[in-house]
Amino acid sequence: MVIMLTVLESLQLSTEYLEKKGIDSARMNAELLLADILNCGRLDLYLRFEQPLTDEEKSIYRDFISRRAKNEPLQYIIGNVEFFGMHFIVNENVLIPRQETEILVEKIIENNKNDSLRILDIGTGSGCIALSLAKNLPECSVTAIDISREALKVAWKNQKHHEIENCELKQFDIMSDDVSTLGKFDMIVSNPPYVPEDDYKGLQKEIVLHEPRIALTDDADGYKFYSRISNIAAKLLMAGGSLYFESGDGMAEKIGDVMKDHGLKNIKYHKDYLDISRVVEGQV
Ligand code: GLN
Repeated sequence: MVIMLTVLESLQLSTEYLEKKGIDSARMNAELLLADILNCGRLDLYLRFEQPLTDEEKSIYRDFISRRAKNEPLQYIIGNVEFFGMHFIVNENVLIPRQETEILVEKIIENNKNDSLRILDIGTGSGCIALSLAKNLPECSVTAIDISREALKVAWKNQKHHEIENCELKQFDIMSDDVSTLGKFDMIVSNPPYVPEDDYKGLQKEIVLHEPRIALTDDADGYKFYSRISNIAAKLLMAGGSLYFESGDGMAEKIGDVMKDHGLKNIKYHKDYLDISRVVEGQV
């Protein structure tokens, strides 16, 4: 017997299933996954409630829902995420770009419009920071580095997709490679792994089971990369050059202190939409 399932029936069954599996916002997840398969907006589904799903659509939807039920983030299932008005390809080799990271990009663009700067992005992951800066600051040239070759493959795809020419991607380990080979820059930007080792296990299942651990925790107190990057900033930056960090929740003040300890000046803090100090900047 062939079972006909309409959009509405599929949504109801999937929502119930996701709820049973303890997934938050089950209906919203069910809708977004189906809208992706039907290649329409989420709200367009409401105009198509009576439309039957084809066998192929049903089988893809079943697969998507069972992955989401196992806590796989929606963004990895769909394979892309919107960041700073651009679509970025993502997979389990890169951290999913977060909305709060847009504050970092926004601040830098606001402070440096029309400048032609050489910018270094450390730990680029999907390339969301480097490529959104490169696109919005076309006079700048961006170098984006990451230790992970698999992450760089994703960043390369994103660069190609957005046809961005003023960004160069390179594999580099800032802990052990010779930083003098990178050249000199006017700005360093980084959203480093800052979750303290002790907090890592307490993060949501979506994060711990699916996002790359090396993009999230420094396996120490959370400050390892802030300290290393502040330490090498003087070698990498021209006089007066600036360093911009994304800060973990509640970490900004200490990050500022770490920067000062390494000789950075004019430390400034910027808040996100939840009133959390999210960006720390300083100058050499
Ligand atoms: N904002 C991320 C989270 O809390 C962490 C990103 C990072 O370590 N840079 O999940």
